[in-house]
Order: sequence, then structure tokens, then C-alpha cells
Amino acid sequence: MRDLVKPLLLLSLVSFSFIAHAQFDGLFSPFDCREHAELFYNEPVEEPIVTIDSSIFAAVPEEMEITVDTINGWKQWSSVENFTFGKDRGAMTMITDIRALHPYFRDQIRTLIAACHAKGIELAVVESYRTHAKQNEYKVMGKKYTSSGAGRSKHQYGLAIDVVPIVDSVAVWDNKELWKKIGVEGEKLGLRWGGRWRTPYDPGHFEWTGGLTSVHLSQGQLPPVPKCDMLYPCMEEDIRILRKYWKEWEITQSAMTRK
Ligand SMILES: [Zn+2]
Repeated sequence: MRDLVKPLLLLSLVSFSFIAHAQFDGLFSPFDCREHAELFYNEPVEEPIVTIDSSIFAAVPEEMEITVDTINGWKQWSSVENFTFGKDRGAMTMITDIRALHPYFRDQIRTLIAACHAKGIELAVVESYRTHAKQNEYKVMGKKYTSSGAGRSKHQYGLAIDVVPIVDSVAVWDNKELWKKIGVEGEKLGLRWGGRWRTPYDPGHFEWTGGLTSVHLSQGQLPPVPKCDMLYPCMEEDIRILRKYWKEWEITQSAMTRK
């Protein structure tokens, strides 16, 4: 019997000291939870799908702010350089800011971006407003880019936009199923979708003219906006400022052409 008690006593002593040590270590020693916060957070941290330069993605509509700088606002418009989206789009800068668009069309595009985002599709703006100089550059680059010369594209009136879906940090140009999903969202908003065209097939392109043609637009006519007085009480002033900004960009890019 004595022989058995001794090892048992020893075992209980060892286990007690182990438990006490563990308790002291775990519960009673000073513990900075900030350092070990991840130990208590078992939920997987959601990684954003796209991790490259965030300025490429279309801004979340709710967070958009409309510039009120009526003098130099055009300088603050976001833009990208050639090959940003993996394609040759010419030497001239592309304006990507949706503030460069006609106010009604701009809001439709904000809705389109949000609708696609809700479906898990992240859009980047490839080009919004386009100067005549930039349009001419495309014209020179060939039919693959445009069939319209300066003044003939809706981009020159802030009534067209080019977008591209971004998947795993890459602009995806050739996924027809994905384009269809985006096209459906745009058409729901009453926009004309370039994915229906054949010459050229242009699935990233959306436009709206309220029924006006390029000829009407080139004469300075403005598309009739539904409930304009109620929803856009400052439309006239907004358009006046927009045209001023467009002109500034035109002057800048025309100067580039002459160089
Ligand atoms: Zn376009």
C-alpha cells in the first residue's frame, strides 16, 4: 500500500502544479488583448476580391461627392493612362471621372455601378467624357476603336461611358456571360448598350441621349430629362460648368496633338 501512495502523491503534486502554472499563465498574468485579438476572432476576415490600385475601381456611389469648385474642378477629374486596363487606348489620357458626365446620365451610371456591385460584379470606368482630340486619336487608330469621328460619339457630350469588369485584379474583356449580366443591368435603366452592336461589338459601352441623335447633340441640343425641374433644379448651371470643364480638357488635349 505504501508503495502505491507515494507515486500517487507525487503524480497529484505534479498535475496540481501544472494546472496552477497554466492558470497563472493564462488567467492571472497580465494579458494585453489587443496584442492577441486574433485569438478571439475566429470568423474569416473577408478579403476584397480586387487588391490592386483602388483608384481604378468605380467609386461606391454613396460615397461620391460632387465637386463644387467651378473654376478648377476639371483638373480634379480622375483619369488613366494608356494600358491601365491592359489594352492599347492611345497616347492621350482617358478621363474616367463620372462627374464629367451629364448629371442625369451620371446618376444612371452610379445606379448601374451599384446594381452590378450588388451582384458581385466590380466595374472600373475606362473612359467617361472624351474630347474631340481623343476621339480623333481613336479614329486614326482604326475601325477596331471607333467608326465615329470627332463630334459623332456620345462620349463627347458626356452621354456615354466605357466600363470593364475587374476579376481578381484583372480587367476581364472577353467573358461574354459576364458582359451580358452587366448589359442587362444597364438596359433595365433605359441605357443603350454597345453589347448589342456588331460594328464594333462594344459591350463595355453604355449611352443615353433621350432620343436625340449626334446631329442634334452637335447643334447644342440637350436631351429631355424626366422630372428635370424636380430632380435637377440646377441642371442649366451644371451643364454650363460641365461645358466649361470640357473646353478646358479640349484645349489641353488639342495642344498635345499639335506637339
Ligand atoms: Zn464608348
